[in-house]
Amino acid sequence: MPGTELFGAEEKKEISDVLETGILFRFNHEAQRNNIWKARDFEAEVKKITGARFAHAVSSGSTAVSCALAAAGVGAGDEVIVPPFTYIASVEAVIFAGGIPVFAEIDETLCLSAKGIEKAITPKTKAVLLVHMCGQMADMPSILDVIKRHNLVLVEDAGQAFGASYKGTSVGLFGKTGCYSFDFFKIATAGEGGVFVTNDETCYRHADSYSDHGHDHVGNVRGMEQHPILGFNYRISELHAAIGAAQTRKVPKILAANRKNKTILMNLLKDVPGLSFANLPDPAGDSSTFLNLMLPDTESAKRTVDAFNAAGIGGFNYWYINMYHFINQWGHLKDLKAAAPLPVHHYDKPQDYNNLQLPKSQEVVGRLISFGIRCTWTEDEVKSLAGKIRTAVEKVTAEKTYA
Ligand SMILES: *Cc1c(COP(=O)(O)O)cnc(C)c1O
Repeated sequence: MPGTELFGAEEKKEISDVLETGILFRFNHEAQRNNIWKARDFEAEVKKITGARFAHAVSSGSTAVSCALAAAGVGAGDEVIVPPFTYIASVEAVIFAGGIPVFAEIDETLCLSAKGIEKAITPKTKAVLLVHMCGQMADMPSILDVIKRHNLVLVEDAGQAFGASYKGTSVGLFGKTGCYSFDFFKIATAGEGGVFVTNDETCYRHADSYSDHGHDHVGNVRGMEQHPILGFNYRISELHAAIGAAQTRKVPKILAANRKNKTILMNLLKDVPGLSFANLPDPAGDSSTFLNLMLPDTESAKRTVDAFNAAGIGGFNYWYINMYHFINQWGHLKDLKAAAPLPVHHYDKPQDYNNLQLPKSQEVVGRLISFGIRCTWTEDEVKSLAGKIRTAVEKVTAEKTYA
């Protein structure tokens, strides 16, 4: 959780700017706000880091995914290809948009693969919701090729990959629309918050209106604005945006520290028998929030998790059994349990969610163990962690050889 490691004076200063004026609302109130516009500042910082033409801050990464789908024109009855390995918000956003999630295979990039996407396409496929997982990036050339050949809409959920890029282009900007999360667990946090991005002005206008009851935000009188479309309230408050702005300014520093630490770890671990790393289509573009270890098979990964626990090594995620990130634990989703009827209940679905066969995703996530990288680690701490990982993995590998 790099952002939270560097929480301090800068964040407090930004918040106190807002508290001075008492204008917690991001729009209007020009006379009272003393030219303090924190949501705009937050958006400007995100644009600076990503190179996006347009950015719009909202209340969460989840609502940013909803904005990205809506602004890209993805909604009721549309089949949307999604990964089975993601924070579940991506799939929920499709369902609450009225869409039908269609699961496709990921590969060793930890993201949807072009091959997986191609297999899941039906005549009703409208879009692909590509999720850039574990701070890394998907294999963009092959994915863009499938998108183009099948005339699909690409929407990117870069919720956990702010700061990552592929060959110089930020993740989130390859498709029609994209988004990032700034919740408490991401590279930078606003407490709660998300940012929608696009290079398309019409999409930006739609996201801006959609996230605020359709207001077009033209003019200075809130009650007298036009409302070109229907929307809802996904607004971010000035207090959250103030923290988001301060944190986003720290991201270049966080990225540099994360990358340094991850490089040391990978160099120290690259020759450990039985250990490899997730595929990085562009190593230089890694946000390096996670060290993504791959074991030879699920059984070895489970034994390695046990060995880490026995040795008192914390700070890692074994997503395969995690309740929120992998489909095996999404029984409520497979049964489409909801508080009230949803569009998806009424549509024909190309998949029986309870009998999905996604062997490649099972294999990849079964083998994956991710360590959160801390930007405040000392070099000694990094080396010590590498030593402990090595010892644990070597022990598991030796047991396997002689068992
Ligand atoms: C964190 C995350 C979200 C949701 O973000 P919130 O800000 O917690 O709503 C969505 N998608 C992905 C991939 C995430 O990691």
